[in-house]
Amino acid sequence: MKRLAALLLVCAFTAPPPAAAGPVSPRIRVAIARNSPSLKLKTASQIYVQEMRTGQKFMLVQNASYEVRPRSGGIAVAGQELSSPVKLLASAGPERIRLGKHLYKGDIILHANQDGRLDIIEDLSLEDYLYGVLPAEMSPDWPLEALKAQAVASRTYAMRFINPAKPYDVTNGVETQVYNGTSRINPRIIEAVNSTRGEVLKYKGSLVRAYFHAACGGHTASSKAAWGEAVTKPLYGVADPFCKPSRHSRWQYFLSTKELLRFVQAQSSTALKVAGLKIHQKDRSGRALTLRVSTDRGYKTVRASEMRKRFGTFEFRSTFITSIRAVSGGYQISGRGWGHGVGMCQEGAKYMAYKKRSYKRILRHYYPGASITQHD
Ligand SMILES: [Zn+2]
Repeated sequence: MKRLAALLLVCAFTAPPPAAAGPVSPRIRVAIARNSPSLKLKTASQIYVQEMRTGQKFMLVQNASYEVRPRSGGIAVAGQELSSPVKLLASAGPERIRLGKHLYKGDIILHANQDGRLDIIEDLSLEDYLYGVLPAEMSPDWPLEALKAQAVASRTYAMRFINPAKPYDVTNGVETQVYNGTSRINPRIIEAVNSTRGEVLKYKGSLVRAYFHAACGGHTASSKAAWGEAVTKPLYGVADPFCKPSRHSRWQYFLSTKELLRFVQAQSSTALKVAGLKIHQKDRSGRALTLRVSTDRGYKTVRASEMRKRFGTFEFRSTFITSIRAVSGGYQISGRGWGHGVGMCQEGAKYMAYKKRSYKRILRHYYPGASITQHD
């Protein structure tokens, strides 16, 4: 993890994307940088730093550089020691914040964390957040109905994380949903978010855990098989004929005997030689749960998800293994789909949209039994 001082630039205002009229959107707090030892702050206009606990404001002058540091649980800036967290406020109208190459339009909060470092948090409306998530999670060139289905899934997914008891709700990385500010925004993204404003997926009155993944390869996975979570009807897994034309529907991976031996040894096997690899257990969708490795010390059963993690989720694309062939020096593994397989298959959503299916049909297909409704 990088430990460099972050550079935050408060720059001139650019018009934010137009928000659709409708119910008030909830706020979401996104950690856009974590564990920074200090922060360099450059101001293009006069701004205020406000202690969130007391409401007290301190002015920072225009066109100046400041160093912000965490200090004894609080935050030190321009000779003042403030209690954490603090908010950066523009003195005249809205400002945009630049961090690295990304632009942020929400309020910026600085929080001194438990490790004595700074977390930089953007506080913005959920709808504005989605303008930034959508192009990072799905290509803006894809058909509009697929983008709208993604907007509803991403909105639902994000809402489950909103928790005022925590310093922030979500991170900007793959742990939740990828978010890089709102620089890549375009009219199709705005339309997908605005035309589904406030819509979420619910099942029996609760928000669905609206997972999604790149391609399922013919059948989506249940959240129970993937992670041992209690499963509800929308995440039980469905047959999916739609993603078949996708180039991600099939993959191959060569696993050398050497790598496999190292892997079983890391799983506390005393083996010195491996002699075979087979699928041991499958889930209802056909994905491998466990594999069995024959070794000079007997059989070793390993979890397919562990293997995927070990050999790389970009190379070992799924646990939907269709064949394992012994070849010279190792095993040729063939499989289907890309990703964990739970919830909406994005490639399938794209092909459903090409076939003129609406975003509601797409969502009903991948989250059966869920209703599409306005959030409370
Ligand atoms: Zn699919």
